This record gives sequence, C-alpha cells and structure tokens, in this order.
Amino acid sequence: MTTEEFKINGYKIVDWLCNYFNEIEKYPVKSQLKPGEIFNRLPDTPPNSRDNFFDILKDFENQIMDGITHWQSPNFFAFFPANNSFPSILAEFLTAGLGLQCMMWVTSPAAAELEEKMMNWLRDSIGLPSSFSGVIQDTASTATLVSILTAREKFSDYEINQKGFSEKNKFRVYCSTEAHSSIEKAVKIAGIGASNLIKIDVDDKFALKPELLRDSIIKDISEGYRPLCIVAALGTTGSTAVDPIYEIGKICRQFNIWFHIDAAYAGSALILDEFNHFKNGIEFCDSFVFNPHKWLMTNFDCSAYFVQNKEALISTFEILPEYLKTPEVTHVNNYRDWGIQLGRRFRALKLWFVIRSYGLDGLKSKLREDIALTKYIQEKIENDEEFEILAPVDFNVICFRFKPKGIGNINELNQINEELLNLVNSTGKAFFTHTKLNGSYVIRFVIGQTNVKKENVEKAWKLIKSIASELKINKEYK
Ligand SMILES: *Cc1c(COP(=O)(O)O)cnc(C)c1O
Repeated sequence: MTTEEFKINGYKIVDWLCNYFNEIEKYPVKSQLKPGEIFNRLPDTPPNSRDNFFDILKDFENQIMDGITHWQSPNFFAFFPANNSFPSILAEFLTAGLGLQCMMWVTSPAAAELEEKMMNWLRDSIGLPSSFSGVIQDTASTATLVSILTAREKFSDYEINQKGFSEKNKFRVYCSTEAHSSIEKAVKIAGIGASNLIKIDVDDKFALKPELLRDSIIKDISEGYRPLCIVAALGTTGSTAVDPIYEIGKICRQFNIWFHIDAAYAGSALILDEFNHFKNGIEFCDSFVFNPHKWLMTNFDCSAYFVQNKEALISTFEILPEYLKTPEVTHVNNYRDWGIQLGRRFRALKLWFVIRSYGLDGLKSKLREDIALTKYIQEKIENDEEFEILAPVDFNVICFRFKPKGIGNINELNQINEELLNLVNSTGKAFFTHTKLNGSYVIRFVIGQTNVKKENVEKAWKLIKSIASELKINKEYK
C-alpha cells in the first residue's frame, strides 16, 4: 500500500466507522451466529497473491461483521462495558501509526513520561495517596498476578525468584467467595496453588465478612501457614459488592499481610466525591488496580495498577541482560521492570486524549448520568410486582430476576429467568448476561456504555417485560 493509497483507505475507514456508529443499533447487539460459521466460511489457506484493500474491506463487511458482538452499542448491558470513545479511538490510530515498543525509557521517553504523568493524574483523581506509583498493565488479571508475585517475593526475601519454592513457603491467599476468577488464576500461576486460596464467606450484601477472615488467618498461622495476601474487591463482578476495605486493611496491618484491592470495574467511580465512603482504608493497601478500559471510555487494554512501594515491585521483576543496558544516569522509569512482559504498547496516549477531551468534569458527569439512569430503572423494577432485585445497587449494576406470582421454587425461577435472558438476547435488540447470587439466577442490567441514553434503557426494560409476560402466558397454558 502506498502512502497515497493509505490516505484514501484511511479516510474510507473513518467514513466506515462514522456510519457504523450512526447505524450501530441496526446490528443485533449479540452476534446471532453459531459456532464454526465464521471459521468455515474462510479459506483454509492464505492467498498467494495480493488482495486489494477494497476486496478486503468488502469481505470484512460480508464475512466478519455478522460475527461481531457490538460492545459499543448503547443497547449493550452485558458483562461490564469495554467502552471506547472517539478521542480514544483516534489516539489508538496514532498509536498504531507510531508503532512503538515501549519497554523502557529510551525506546520512547515520551511514552514513559506520559505514562508516569497519566498514572499520577488517575491516582489523584481516585483519591489514592501520593505515595503510590502507577503503571499501565494490560488487564486487571495481569495486575493481580503481578501483585501476588510481588507479595510472594517480598515475603520470601526474594528467594523464590532465585531458588524456587522450598518447604518453608507455605503461603495462603484470601479473597471472598464473590471475588473474580483472575485471583484463582493468579495463585495457580504464582505457584501458590488453588487449594491455598481461601475463599471467605460473604454477608447478605455479598461483601466479605472480616471476622471470618480473621478466624481463618489465625487458624492458618496455628497450622504453620504464612498468610501472604488478601485480595479485597471494591466492586465484585457479580453484583459490584464492596468488601470492608478498612477492616481488611487493619487485619493486613496486624498480621503483616500484603493487601491488594481489585477495583477493576467500580474503581472508575472513585473519581466521584459521592463514593468517598468506599475509599475509607484504601491507604492501607499495598496495591490497587482499576480498569479505565471498562467504564472510563478508554479502549481496551488499559489497566491502571498502583503500588505503595515500587521498590518491591521492581525487585520482583527487574532483569538486566547486557543488551538491555542503557546509559541513563538520572532516574527514569523502565516499565519493563514493573510487570511481566518486556514489550509494551503505548497506552498512555489514549488516556491523555480521553482525559483532556472530556475533562475530569466531563468524565464525572458521564458516570453520574449512568448512575442516574440506573436509579431510574431500579425504581421501575422495584415497583413491579413480578420482578425483584437481589443485591444492593451501589453503582450502575442491577441484579434482578423475574418472579411471576405462583412460582416460588428456586429451580423453576432459575429456569424461567435463563429462558427469559436467552429470548431477550436472541432478539438482537439488547444484550444482557447473568450471574448467580446465593444460587439464584439473576440477570445483570449494567448501565454504563459510552453512548447509553434513557431511551435505550427504557426500550430494554420494555423488551424484558414483554418477553417475560409472554413466557408467563405460555407457562400458564402448558
Ligand atoms: C473485569 C474484572 C476483572 C478482570 O479484568 P481484566 O482486565 O479483563 O483482566 C477482575 N476483577 C474484577 C472485579 C472485574 O470486574
């Protein structure tokens, strides 16, 4: 492709994306294809001769688009959002054009220094003390693994990195039964073992019970274990429950345990003063992660990872073969030493574009609008006799279920709600996902997509109601 062709095709792509966003609601939100359909329609061998860009773009439309699930649709209420925004997309375009590899300061000083500045901006915006340093990780899963590895090294005097595990390294890690699966993955990868991840029971709000945590720690110590790390959720994935951060922090201090806070989703909301009560005790943590790539309109991937003591982090990951030695005498951040991978994308640019394009006030009003829309739908559900909400609504996630009169049996309720969810999703008009809370199947209504408006949530709620009443009629006549 020549520069001239790049220019023509580049404008074409921008035009295509503009149409896409204008017409995004005409696509089924959740791809309706069956497994294998895309794979089987693609040729088994690569082309030997060049295809022209026009044909590639046409095939993208004809062969790929119906296999796309539209995460940027305002009718996407599933999982958690993976939001983008126009400023973020444009930054990603520039990033792709520059094609940097940001493993260390010298490979692009601007990337390293912009990253440091953006992490400071985010740290201050969510109210972490200025003693914390930040680094962008690809995902919260990676950040949690990095955190547990750092704890492992710190509490083994950096011995496991050198010699591997020994008899004396009987570590235990703790989280709640509602904590994210990435924690279990991390303890497996870190060599601690899934059976040494102790899952502590939750209260009726799905938050960890600190007294049970304390009991568990005391018992483990008496049995010769070394409690290594507690991972608290500030917003669980199921229902956005917030663990008692302050109490957990105190336990960590008392027993000298590493404290990691997983705020992957709800951490974005900490830029709002009205959530200050959730920050009580975050200064106790050793590490903290949240994902601007979820609710903060910044393209995946972008996880903001903060540590109280960057020396422990760097001592865990630093490695310096001859070919990576550089002559900087003054202090610079070589982010290859702040995590697992050597090569890194230039991810700070999109944060800079997003934060500057919206301003902090703009970001705050976006989150507040989502929270207001959530309240609006929450009230509708609460006032509906045939629906019920099964978890506190602290942010912008409503966990609810259909509960028609006459059905009280949990299995029947679970079944009818699963049917309801599948029917709603098969219309293509909205996309929801579910979780289970205390064994009950609940539909999650997540209201945080970049472009979501009142009309979208209203349409979605009406859709659920009408499919639910059809389901009920069918059941009654069966
Ligand atoms: C989404 C989520 C994760 C995983 O995030 P990734 O960035 O996809 O790894 C971890 N913890 C919580 C609480 C989450 O909501």
